[in-house]
Amino acid sequence: MTCNRNKNTVFYQFPHLAAFSGVAHGVFARHGGYSAGKFKGLNLSYDVGDLKENVQKNRALVNDVMNIPGMLSVRQVHGNTVRVFSQQDEPDLKEHEADAMITDAPGYLLLVKGADCQLILVFDPIKNVAANIHSGWRGSVQNIVGKTISVMKEVYGCRPEDLMCGIGPSLGPCCAEFVNHSEEFPPSFKKYEVSSNHFDFWTISRKQLELSGVCPDNIAVSGICTRCNTDQFFSYRREKITGRFGAVIGIRS
Ligand SMILES: [Zn+2]
Repeated sequence: MTCNRNKNTVFYQFPHLAAFSGVAHGVFARHGGYSAGKFKGLNLSYDVGDLKENVQKNRALVNDVMNIPGMLSVRQVHGNTVRVFSQQDEPDLKEHEADAMITDAPGYLLLVKGADCQLILVFDPIKNVAANIHSGWRGSVQNIVGKTISVMKEVYGCRPEDLMCGIGPSLGPCCAEFVNHSEEFPPSFKKYEVSSNHFDFWTISRKQLELSGVCPDNIAVSGICTRCNTDQFFSYRREKITGRFGAVIGIRS
């Protein structure tokens, strides 16, 4: 990923997504922003105990840096509900329960928040449709990645081979330790156990995208572990009470 700086924020971009002028995207590090204490920096979640007005200002800063006025987000619950915001719909700015969003509406950033979970950006440059997915281990088990691609196909006629995907900074195989994996994970995950109780969720998501028909060459994995890089990213595993950084993607007007 490339690292960019603007208005005291630091955001990372996938070069194969940045190549398209019709879409804006970024994974924001914790730098800059208005939050203080354990949430210091650019916390984008209302649900972690931070002051609401600081989160509002942080989100407005992300809109400003991306130069896209609107923002849509969901209340992430580690489920597999996919929310679609279509151009013709009246924008509903309430945070409904869901873990993935899809839109063809220009002028809105889709915001997904995380602190170790995978945030996965998808763009279809042919149909001009964007998606953003929150996939923690429960999301991986439920294959929310595959479900989101299915909904893109059904609702917008997207072809998986056209999709550009980026798997953002999240818990790497170095730190993704799951001691109860035999109860929590399906047997098919066993081959991604890279060392005792440690799993490679980056490759699990890559395989889920590939099984949905996405071309391997169109999938980028940041390879940045959040727990190993808390100077850059909030990490729930390392910090417990902490903020949530954000990945955004939006269609330009
Ligand atoms: Zn790590």
